[in-house]
Amino acid sequence: PGAAPAGPSVPDPAAAGPGVRSGEPSLLIDGRWVRSGDGGVRQCLNPADGTVVATVDEATPGDATLAVAAARRAFDTGPWPTTPVAERTALLHRIADLLARDSEQLAAIETADTGKTLGESRIDIDDVIAVFRYYAGLLASAADRLVDVGDPQVISRVRREPIGVCVLIAPWNYPLLQMSWKVAPALAAGCTMIMKPSEVTPLSTIAFARLITEAGVPAGVVNLVQGSGATLGGALTDTDEVDFISFTGGLATGKTISRVAAEHVTKVAVELGGKNPHIVFADADWESSVDQVLTGVFLHSGQVCSAGTRLIVHDSIADDFVAALVERARRIRIGPGTDPSSETGPLVSAAQRDKIETFVALGVSEGAELVTGGTRPADPALADGCFFLPTVFDHCDRSMQIVQEETFGPILTVERFETAEEAIALGNDTAYGLAAGVRTADLDLAERVARALRHGTVWINDFGYYTAAAEWGGFKKSGNGRELGPTGLAEYQETKHIWLHTAPAPKGWFTGES
Ligand code: NAD
Repeated sequence: PGAAPAGPSVPDPAAAGPGVRSGEPSLLIDGRWVRSGDGGVRQCLNPADGTVVATVDEATPGDATLAVAAARRAFDTGPWPTTPVAERTALLHRIADLLARDSEQLAAIETADTGKTLGESRIDIDDVIAVFRYYAGLLASAADRLVDVGDPQVISRVRREPIGVCVLIAPWNYPLLQMSWKVAPALAAGCTMIMKPSEVTPLSTIAFARLITEAGVPAGVVNLVQGSGATLGGALTDTDEVDFISFTGGLATGKTISRVAAEHVTKVAVELGGKNPHIVFADADWESSVDQVLTGVFLHSGQVCSAGTRLIVHDSIADDFVAALVERARRIRIGPGTDPSSETGPLVSAAQRDKIETFVALGVSEGAELVTGGTRPADPALADGCFFLPTVFDHCDRSMQIVQEETFGPILTVERFETAEEAIALGNDTAYGLAAGVRTADLDLAERVARALRHGTVWINDFGYYTAAAEWGGFKKSGNGRELGPTGLAEYQETKHIWLHTAPAPKGWFTGES
């Protein structure tokens, strides 16, 4: 692989705005930047070297309750929910413009907070901008749907109205990107909201909230609290004041939130984990297959919900394919995300690295063959960071936990198949159903396999791509609901049927006469 493309010099994350400077208030409640109710703070660490990037306010449950109340007031008293479509569209474009203006600083913040390479962060911010532009465009073409009820004197139409107060909870792997998939459609729909980024990576969302305010979003429409999910979860979800919870994160948290929300009959959409198969047939294009299996699993050191962590490869090519893959995996350049020569960065935290080390030990104990990686890099220059080597386990089988559980790290497992039916069965033998890849020169076969796989996205002869205009989400335990695309907007809307009779007259049902 060649060197990462040279980009502009790395900006100082703190230059993006006071929101990420230590000492500035970093909770946004009812249009004002405030401190935590009890003065609590949290240090955000750079996973590449363990240094403190910023110190931010740690919200209390009381702060979260205030944020929910502010969003409730802003929704119930307006004017945002009834703001004309043209104004909402303009505001979404304004936000996109400001994101574009500050994209370099936002990318630098994302890299400092998550560890991902600057190149990846730049792509993330471009995608954030694209999501705002997409929903601005979709909104501009929105119209009530007329329904023909068969009576010329009745005008029947279905309107879409904002669902109300939304709680938006995001994970740490794509902090601003995942949040934007929620904020853009929520704003487009006319909702009010509380953003709750991951406590591990809140910085880009704080900077983003500054831009939202600058763009002129009315007070109380977008609120921001950050802190431990376990601490704030109750105030944000165990309440009748919230109409919709959009959550992206792990399966266990998704179950907890769904249970709590059910008590209030609050609508919930959960985007959860994945254990994504990448199926390679013997006739697949060799170079692109080796390359994309590698990228599909090791990009962002495997901390991707749709990472292709299960290679399912045809028996006739398996040994050579794994050998080629391992040779490439050993050459991946690991280092700080700010170093242009790094091809991938560290894991997000020491806790995440501990988890990955436990999974490696589990794989070994289950009898999987560790062919490369499995340890931290030997380079002493990386000793202070949370780095971990790309790891491949060969000769795995579906009964192993290392094959079934989401590791969320740079671990690839290899299984072999002989028939297409076997490949499909293996690809579906997972509790999850987020994404899958199929590689073959036979497009009829590819289509048959793609249709048979129970996953929310299937890539044929490609891997990892998505677009704002196409729905994203999971089958089975990868969640319910969809983000992006028209469905991603519909999640934030209620439908209302309005029936108008243009010539009202008695119906004659109850005449009182026998
Ligand atoms: P996590 O479940 O630990 O945390 C996600 C968010 O939920 C964080 O903001 C956290 O503070 C909050 N939270 C935790 N407990 C809570 C509670 N009781 N109530 C309310 N909020 C609570 O997940 P994570 O470790 O941050 O993220 C990794 C997971 O996210 C992986 O499983 C990954 O697959 C998944 N993910 C899925 C997608 C997708 O599109 N399906 C995208 C990215 C990440």
